[in-house]
Amino acid sequence: MAKYAVIGGTFDPVHLGHLSFARDVLEQTDVDEVIFMPAKLQPFKLGEDVSPFETRFAMLKIACAEHDGISVSRLENDLEGVSYTYRTLDELRERLKKGDELYFITGSDTFTKLDTWTNAEHLLRTNSFIVGVRPGYPTEELEEKRAEFLEKYGTQSVVINNERLDISSTMVRELTAEGKSISDLVTPGVENYIKTHGLYKQD
Ligand code: NAP
Repeated sequence: MAKYAVIGGTFDPVHLGHLSFARDVLEQTDVDEVIFMPAKLQPFKLGEDVSPFETRFAMLKIACAEHDGISVSRLENDLEGVSYTYRTLDELRERLKKGDELYFITGSDTFTKLDTWTNAEHLLRTNSFIVGVRPGYPTEELEEKRAEFLEKYGTQSVVINNERLDISSTMVRELTAEGKSISDLVTPGVENYIKTHGLYKQD
């Protein structure tokens, strides 16, 4: 029996904030493996200019090779159409062994809005969540939502501390376009991949 936790996202590119979130999950829960799940088409980012799946996947592969306990999945690329989380988790659960457990990882703001996602009732009834909260951050709204989801849908959720680093993928792309260093924002392997492939340069 194994416990898996999925962290979904665009990861264009994966950065040290994403990796520290995964590490916090491994350190503060009994999850055995965090699975990075790059979206083919993120439902809230349709029409945005995003790097091809294979490029984002290649950088995640490099980051995973540099860290224990994390892996990357191609599942959303292999599924047709928009990457709805309820469907990804249904499909992934089918592929696990009997007795394995599955969690979805979110930040606290995202968790409080899960009831706006596609097929939200099914998502919340069939999945458990790990929620990252910044130490010292007010948790009143989060606790109200955790109680509401538990009562309405039986949703189980675990709260962990996540010192969210002041890093975003946008920042990595912008600094690269300006020819500035990104070595404090991504792993050495990812930095090298971005340089070698000339990613995020201005047209
Ligand atoms: P993202 O910005 O690429 O971020 C990926 C993950 O990393 C999120 O959990 C995010 O937390 C976390 N993160 C980002 N920056 C961080 C930092 N500096 N330090 C620590 N953690 C950081 O993710 P996204 O594009 O919003 O997508 C998230 C997932 O939601 C994807 O799987 C997407 O498909 C899914 N989604 C599904 C639906 C739907 O089914 N209808 C709708 C929207 C999104 P936060 O949770 O705080 O952002």
